[in-house]
Formats: sequence, C-alpha cells, structure tokens
Amino acid sequence: MGMISLPAASLFAEMATGAPAHAESPATPRRVPAATIGQQSLERAFVCFRIGTPLWLDEARFTELLELFDQNPGITDEITLFTSETHPPLPLAVILERAPILKERMKAARERGYRSGINVLATIGHHEENLPNSLSGDFTAMTDPLGNVCRGTFCPNDDRLRAYIAQVYEAVAKAQPDYLWIDDDVRLWGHAPIKAGCFCDACVQRFAQRLGRPFTRDSLREAFSSGALPDKLRLRRAWLEHNRETIGDLFRLVEMTVHTVAPGLPLGFMTGDRFYEGYDFAAWAEILAGPQRAAVLWRPGAGTYRDERLADITDKAHDIGRQVALLPTHVQCIESEVESFPYQRLKKSAHATALEAAAYIASGCTGTAFNVLSQYDEPLDEYRPLVARLQGARPFLDLLARVLGRAPCLGIHSGWVKDTYAAQNPDGEWFAGPSAPSHCNEIWATGLPAAYAASHACVTAWSGDQVLALTGDEIRTALAQGVYLDGPTLTRLNALGYRALTGFEVADVRHEDCIEELTDHPLNAAFAGRSRNGRQSFWKCPTYFLRPTADGAQLLSRCVNYTYRETAPCCLGVYENREGGRVCVAGYYPWEQLQNLSKSAQLKAIMRWLSKDTLPAYVVSFHRMNLWVRHPGDRSVAIALLNSYLDPAHGVELLVRTGNDLMKITDMRGVETPVQADLTDGPYRRFRLPTIPPWEMVLVFVEQPAATA
Ligand SMILES: [Zn+2]
Repeated sequence: MGMISLPAASLFAEMATGAPAHAESPATPRRVPAATIGQQSLERAFVCFRIGTPLWLDEARFTELLELFDQNPGITDEITLFTSETHPPLPLAVILERAPILKERMKAARERGYRSGINVLATIGHHEENLPNSLSGDFTAMTDPLGNVCRGTFCPNDDRLRAYIAQVYEAVAKAQPDYLWIDDDVRLWGHAPIKAGCFCDACVQRFAQRLGRPFTRDSLREAFSSGALPDKLRLRRAWLEHNRETIGDLFRLVEMTVHTVAPGLPLGFMTGDRFYEGYDFAAWAEILAGPQRAAVLWRPGAGTYRDERLADITDKAHDIGRQVALLPTHVQCIESEVESFPYQRLKKSAHATALEAAAYIASGCTGTAFNVLSQYDEPLDEYRPLVARLQGARPFLDLLARVLGRAPCLGIHSGWVKDTYAAQNPDGEWFAGPSAPSHCNEIWATGLPAAYAASHACVTAWSGDQVLALTGDEIRTALAQGVYLDGPTLTRLNALGYRALTGFEVADVRHEDCIEELTDHPLNAAFAGRSRNGRQSFWKCPTYFLRPTADGAQLLSRCVNYTYRETAPCCLGVYENREGGRVCVAGYYPWEQLQNLSKSAQLKAIMRWLSKDTLPAYVVSFHRMNLWVRHPGDRSVAIALLNSYLDPAHGVELLVRTGNDLMKITDMRGVETPVQADLTDGPYRRFRLPTIPPWEMVLVFVEQPAATA
C-alpha cells in the first residue's frame, strides 16, 4: 500500500513522531509524501501549490491544472485550494456551497498522488474588497485607535464573529482535507484603510479589565504615547500581550472546532513579521497542535512581487528567517510563501520565482508554497514555462532542505525580540509605523552571515531605540559578548546605566558634509587613510561624533569635511569592556553605504574581532553576497551562498571556521565541485570558489574533520 492512501492525519503523525524516513527514487517524487521526517532530518523539501478559486470551481479547468502538474512530475506534493478570491470573509452560505466542491476537487488531486487541503483565505478578513458579496451583518469591524474601521475585517474577539468562524472551520474540516491552513489575514495590523487594531469598545474594555485600570479608546491611545517612558513601555508591553492573547484565543476556537470534526488534522498558519501582534509564534503553534499534539504547519511570508528590485528577495529571506527562528522544533513543515500576486507573468521571472524558494529555505524554511498561477478561469498556457522551470528547480530545493534541515542560522543578529514593537517611536506617537528591524540587511548583503535569534548570535547589531524593548539581562548578555551599535543606541545604553560597558559617549551630532576617514589601526589594515562619503545632502543620516569614556577605547575612523580637515577625531570606535565583551560604536552611516572596498573590509574585520573569531563563515573578498550558515547535526558546516549581484562572482574567497581542507559546492543545476582550502587564517580555512552566476545560489558543505571529532 502506497503512502498516499494513508489518511493525512496518520501521515503527519508519523512525521511528528520521527518515524524512519522513506527512501524513494527521485524519479518518482510525486508518489511519495513531500518530506517524511525522521527526527531532525528531512528527506526532501515540502512543496505546495496554492490554487485560486477560479482554477478549481470549474471541474474542467481543475483537470487542466492537474494535467499540467502531471506533465511536470515532481513539481509539487501538495495542492492547496483557496476558499475565496477576495479577502474579506465570505457569507457562510457561500462556504457551505463550496465545501462539497472542495471535497470533490481534493479527491481528484489525491487520486493523482497529491496531498490536498484547504486554505481558508479569510478568517477575520483583510482590506475592503468585494464588500457587496462578503460577510455582512451585526459584526464588529476592526477598529483603530481613532475609531476608524476596516469594513472588510472584523474583530476576532467579537462573539458573533467567533460563531461564524466556528461554522466556517467546521464546514471545511468536514470536507476531509489532508490539512487546513489559516491565512495571514489573522493579524491586527495593516487592514486598509486602518493600521493598528483592534480598538473596538469591547477590546478596549477587555484590556482595561486585564490591567485593572479604566480606559476609553482616547485615553488609552493617549497613554501609549505620553507620560514617563517606563510607564509607557510597560503599558505598550501589556498591549502586545493582549494582542498575543487575542490571536491565541482565536486559535483555541479554530483548533477545538477542527479537531472535534477531524481529530489530529494538521493545522497551518501563515505569518508575516508580526511585531505588533507580539510575535508569539511558539505559543500559537502549541495552541494549534491541540491536546492531541497534531502536526502544525507554518508558512512564513512577506511581499516580493517584481523583478524590478531583486533585493526584495533577500529582504524577504530575512523577514522569513525571523519568522522561523522562534518556532518550536516540532514544527517541521515550514513552507515559505512564494507569491506573485496579482500573477502577471511579466512582473516576475521564473528564475526569480525559483530563487525565492531557495533563498527562503536558506534562511530557515523546509519547503515552499507557490502561489504563482492564474487568478482567472482561463487557459494556463502562459504559466507552462514557469511550471517547467520550477520543476527543474525542485532537486536543488530538496538538497537545501535535506542538508540544512532546521539547524539555526548563525552569525550577526539584528537584536529583535518579541517585544521590539514596544520601543517603536518611544518619545512620540506609538503606531507611527511598523518596526521590522531591517537595519542589518546591507551588512548581510556584504558577505556577512545572518542570525535570527539572540541565542544564535556571534555579534548583535543594535539600532536606534530598540534596546528599550530589551530586559536588563538581555542587554548585559549581549554587552558581555559582541555588539555593533549606532549613536542613538549608545545614548540610550548610557542613559540606562551601561556607560561603563560601552566605552564611548556621543559628543555631537552633525547633519551635513561629514566624510568618514579610516585611521591607522590594525583592523583597518592597508586601508588607513581611505574615505567613505555617504553624501548627507542626498541620503539623510545624522553623524554622531564620539568621545571615548574609558581607557582602551580605540578610534577606527575620524570625520573630515570637504576641505578634508578633521572635524572630529572619532566617528567609529571599538572597546573591550570589563566583562570581556567587545563593542563597536558606529556613528557614521552605520547601516547603509557600506559597500565600497575599504569600508566593507573594515566592517568584516570589525565583525570578526567583535565575535572573537566565532563567526562561522564570511566572504572575505569584495563581493555582494548573502550567506546563511548552519551547523547541521555535528560540527559540519553548511552554507547557502547567494550572488546577489548582476555580475558573475569571480574569485569569491570564503573563510570557513573549520579544520577541514575540503569543501563541496553544489550549484542550482546540481553540478558538484570539490574545492581545496588554499590558506589557514586562525581558526578559519580559506576557499576560492568557482564563479557563481548573477542571482544564483550555491550550497557549500564542509564535513566535520574526523581528526577533530
Ligand atoms: Zn475588537
């Protein structure tokens, strides 16, 4: 009996319990479950296609789709059907009408060897779209702090809406899906035309009761943005906790409803960077597992829709890395969203689509969910080349998932925590904007590895006010290791009482005509005297002149103006504090304009020094590269390396912290090349890589050397 005839629940139960993996020939991938998991190792990537209602409502069109997949064996393991093509919730009658059709279509997919499930696109709703044909009635709309509403999104704490949601999930669970997905409408931020929710009367009262303080919407809004800083921060943290509970309560309802109908049915949730919602992914995953410990699936996402800006791919990879970092290890099926909404083929190339899937596995996923096909009940001709290209990409995705598994990314961490949003605009109005900490993206694109959790940081990079969201323990721990920070963070840390550990203070702030010049210091090596001009008149970024406050604080850059005379002796310095921690304060364009030869070389030397040679790998040559470094299993090193540049990368020199002189490189076509180290540099070996084509990835693997086991 083939695996495909097993009920999905037992299939996923096997994954969760770590039953032995099934060895299958890659020639017949469609006939096996996507990835059968044994402990921490995956055999293959999880690959899914999400299918819009116009492609499945009509049986003939759906058959055409299945045939397209069949013509490209191995293209996907799962076919997931959207309940709706618009984002506000549908009237219950429409869901009830569609459920038997969904059941038929999933059965047809299963007969051809695919797993098939349902993606509930709208649980609480998102944006104002198709309102005349969407859920209406006596439901409370999602409400912002000023009392404005989104008419397409409802309050998840509204009992009438909860009754509706229970009926929807009961109906779809009864259609016998192999799994059910909750989509990313389940969030409290960004339901146009409003931003922050939910401040309906009931939610404000619920929060007031929780705190034991009376609030109106107006007084609560006022309290978040006025008064003493510690009071504000405490109140904001409490609101984040309230948001966590709001989503947790909703998931308890979904879990109970679904598992009453279908015990053990895997539930999945699609996320984004959910800072305003309190980023409580681990707790939400526990709730969705339910008392029977059903498998939980996750789909991290963000917006990358066009070839015009290829760096959206790496930006999204970092968003996704954060979303994976705190998931419990029992969540093994992590399918990145790859979405090409509104699915116009010329907006995004097939190459970029395939690369996205690879980049998101590199940053933490174990598979991918393509949402890239038509939104019309029309022939699929224009999508055929895309499907063929994605089929060709599949073996590389499988390799990445198999080698990287769920081992964490090690490197430079942006310092985010679940409470980061509390520190957003601390001296002004809260909710002025979302606060995904993207300040490390250029550093990470300069050949330095990304980490997404504090526990996997070799260096922590703090920007602006974000330290206000940290606990004293979190700050002290980082300051006893290695931190890279900017002028505003230095001011905050010194005010919080960490002056003795930072080594510097801000002497002055300048907004024009500052130019950085590298001093004669070992970390600057041959680049002493070289300059970097971020052009403050174009790209606004205040310069922080720094003053050492401790013996041993060292100056690495000074500031000059357009006469090239010194205006400040220090705008970048390093200090090793009494805890043994190493600190670099960067007062001049700390996060951007880092990509000339001298600056990128200085930056790499500084990061390596801060980490005390614990960075697991970095690109030491002058290339625009992203890398994600893992230690899967033992002490082997696996690196996904992306040439994020439109020129081929010739002569890339990769330093890897290993005692092994031999590495193996596999490109996206499956070509494997061994490379011998040509140099030893402290605990690192240097490897000179074969040319990497523009916007392509390679997987580097270095075994643990037997002698140092
Ligand atoms: Zn509400």
